[in-house]
Amino acid sequence: SAQAVTIALSGAGGQIGYAALFRLASGDLLGPKTPIHLRLLEIPQGVSAAEGTALELTDCAFPLLQSVTIDTDPNVVFEGANIAFLVGARPRTAGMERSDLLSANGGIFGPQGRALNDHAADDIRVIVVGNPANTNALIAQRNAPDVPAERFTALTRLDHNRAVGILAAEADVPVDSVSGITIWGNHSITQYPDLSHAIVAGSPALDMVDPRWARGAYIERVAKRGGEIIEARGSSSAASAANAAIDHMRDWVTGTRPHEWTSVALPSDGSYGVPNGLISSFPARSVNGQWEIVQGLTIDQFSRERIDASVTELLDEREAVNALGLI
Ligand code: NDP
Repeated sequence: SAQAVTIALSGAGGQIGYAALFRLASGDLLGPKTPIHLRLLEIPQGVSAAEGTALELTDCAFPLLQSVTIDTDPNVVFEGANIAFLVGARPRTAGMERSDLLSANGGIFGPQGRALNDHAADDIRVIVVGNPANTNALIAQRNAPDVPAERFTALTRLDHNRAVGILAAEADVPVDSVSGITIWGNHSITQYPDLSHAIVAGSPALDMVDPRWARGAYIERVAKRGGEIIEARGSSSAASAANAAIDHMRDWVTGTRPHEWTSVALPSDGSYGVPNGLISSFPARSVNGQWEIVQGLTIDQFSRERIDASVTELLDEREAVNALGLI
């Protein structure tokens, strides 16, 4: 069998952790031949829940699972980590100012970035799920100067998968007949799900669905899907978030499907006018284990305005964490 891989996950006692860990341990990420060590990070009040999950992992007797350890110290948890899922974050609570939210998360993602810098394996790949995910990823990245910047990414694959599913349902085709969708910008309400280049069953999506829907209700439905799920379920989406994080990491390690792209929040190289270094969502392919931004897509005026609006929000967040001394 292949060499064992060490996977760290923060917020392991939470909902998304619970939905992700069994799939990671069963080999959904790296296939049936790669043994796995799981390293679970929690804050003290989450340790008991993480311990419960670890007991259940034992009870699954997963053949690939070599070890499970739990700790509250990121320096311990990230030792030798090849892959890190940063799920735990300080949630926004009623009446909380944005600066309070950002500084609480700076207190989490700054130390985690430093711990990754000092202890992770050379091939470390990081995905941030905990919100505000793009800016939390930026904080971690800036605190890890020895790790190549492009190893820090944030999750917009859930938005992407939602965009695929909702378009396929509208066009009444199977999901695998849909391609060429991009989520641009921030994983927030300002995100832009872009169908300009999307293909549905071999034809341009904008010929297959009402273009007014594509540039109106569709965008809002994708961006507000999280709220729709909370309303229906009574709690936030967890299995689909875990699934998307695994999709993101699997594609990163093993490559995207030929001729297709997905959506990834990654440090900008200036493509499409997004300022350098900002962790923003782009159309991306994974080639030889590295994300590459898909180049040469035409951006019409509608798309330009939408992308710029979301990028402006990211710039404001970057300015705020800069002013707080977090980056
Ligand atoms: P979840 O597991 O449901 O969510 C964790 C994070 O993922 C939240 O920041 C949440 O943001 C975010 N998220 C991103 N996409 C989604 C989505 N589609 N649906 C839901 N959440 C999404 O939270 P729990 O409260 O169940 O668990 C969090 C755990 O993290 C707790 O056990 C806590 O103790 C732990 N924690 C660990 C830390 C650490 O390891 N250092 C630090 C802080 C917390 P949003 O709130 O905006 O939905």
